Amino acid sequence: PEVPVGSILAAGAARWGDRTAFAHEGRSLTFAETYRAACRFAHALRARGIGHGDVVALHLPNCLAFPVAYYGTLLAGATFSPANPLLPPDDLAFQLADCEAAAVVTFGAVAGALASVAGRIPARLTVVVAPTGDLPEGSAEFEAFHAGQPETRPTAGIDVHRDLAHLAYTGGTTGRSKGVRLSHRNVVVNTLQHSCWGTGSVPALDARGDVTIDQIGSADEWPTRLGTGVAINLTPWFHAMGIIGGLNAAVIAGTTIVLHSRFDPEAYVADAERLRITGIGGAPALFAALLATPSFHTADLSSVRSIGSGAAPMNHAMITALRERFPGVVVTEGYGLTEATMGAVISPTYTSGVRKVGSVGVPIFDTEVKVVAAEGGDEPLPVGERGEVCLRGPQIMLGYRNRPEETAAALAGGWLHTGDIGILDADGYLSIVDRKKDMLLYKGYNVFPRELEELLITMPGVAAAAVVGRPDTEVGELPVAFVVPRGPLDADELMAAVNEKVVPYKRLREVHVVEQIPVSAAGKVLKRELRRQLTGELP
Ligand code: ATP
Repeated sequence: PEVPVGSILAAGAARWGDRTAFAHEGRSLTFAETYRAACRFAHALRARGIGHGDVVALHLPNCLAFPVAYYGTLLAGATFSPANPLLPPDDLAFQLADCEAAAVVTFGAVAGALASVAGRIPARLTVVVAPTGDLPEGSAEFEAFHAGQPETRPTAGIDVHRDLAHLAYTGGTTGRSKGVRLSHRNVVVNTLQHSCWGTGSVPALDARGDVTIDQIGSADEWPTRLGTGVAINLTPWFHAMGIIGGLNAAVIAGTTIVLHSRFDPEAYVADAERLRITGIGGAPALFAALLATPSFHTADLSSVRSIGSGAAPMNHAMITALRERFPGVVVTEGYGLTEATMGAVISPTYTSGVRKVGSVGVPIFDTEVKVVAAEGGDEPLPVGERGEVCLRGPQIMLGYRNRPEETAAALAGGWLHTGDIGILDADGYLSIVDRKKDMLLYKGYNVFPRELEELLITMPGVAAAAVVGRPDTEVGELPVAFVVPRGPLDADELMAAVNEKVVPYKRLREVHVVEQIPVSAAGKVLKRELRRQLTGELP
């Protein structure tokens, strides 16, 4: 039998019952309490006529209410649609109208943005977590909303193949975000593909990716990414990496998640030492910040058993520094995208142990990867050639919402066309070269910004770097670098040092020394923002 996503929490509650599941600002919830509250929330939605086929948007930062509302929505048979609480009002209105949210769960501190666009969205119910003032008319306070409801699991009649668990909006790193339709099976399978990685229980996933939680073996067989330990979670749950790797996989593993409302590297390190955290997970931006924090290098972090990064490329210098800081701990890197629920490729961890520097690893269980010509085509390219990465597996989306043409293009031939440029080696290891959309064209030559970024970051005095193209009517695009200095830095010398090492068409034409490089909430460099700075366009 296959299970809906609500079963992840049901199983977590059955196995880990009184263990602390979530802790935030002096309050906490056990796994069993979270499940009971989620059931109450589900019944409360049902009582308001919201259930099967309806979309519930969570306009929330990570907080104790989030897992209750998330699993409650799914237990009610409704679809979860995450909305970044920091979205500007116009983007929020676009997204909530596009997904036709029947209900929105918002957070006091950001509820104003929602209120300002209320007339443009179809929601018939608003629930406010931690309201800061009077509740808008017709809305309910979160705790009062679900208090007193039954604590039994409602029957939901979910078709795990067709019914949507998530309607997730892509990060919008490269353009307007699109609604990605993910079934219950997509979400459960992808969670298990990551939870089971490297354990003896992997074969319990059959060839079609059909699984039940009971099939994945006994609790002792779960040295998952995090394990039944403690982790500080900073990865936003409104993003793929957060909801699958940070929340669902942690609930299966029985990991206690400690939430920090904002990222303060010193506070992170202090808590990591005090709580004896067992895993560190996040985007490369998190690791870059930690490595730049002096106490990170001196604190007793000997409890850390696993390190996992994803969502954006890790550079070699960072991997090396982490390996030196945590000898014997495997530094895992995952590659994926919202259209693949979260992940598709991971660097080997416990079982084979082989990690190739520069590669994001091999496909996770039941997933296939091929590289085809970037200009189009179905035939796999020979080993070692650059092309577009395509994926096939049970975690690939059903399609985009309301975008039949884009869906047909993205899923052409039964493969997800990722828009990423990669290379497969003879052992099936994938390296991500760059995004198709970030690639520059100089006099007909492809220039991959990542190659220049990797070079820049190895130069003395460079803390972070990003390369984008300046449009040029004669040659196409000219490579331009933005660098954040670590100490004194001479832009001309840096440019000369890099240009000495690359073929002429790849040479940098400008180096801008800046205080910071803009990153998205998920920790990705916002290149469109940098291009805008170059061309002086208004947002
Ligand atoms: P949009 O598609 O709207 O521009 P987005 O691409 O940021 O937004 P996500 O689904 O959050 O949406 O990000 C997926 C992308 O992140 C991948 O296509 C890839 O370019 C990048 N990525 C993820 N993990 C890695 C990794 N380990 N190494 C390199 N790139 C990665």
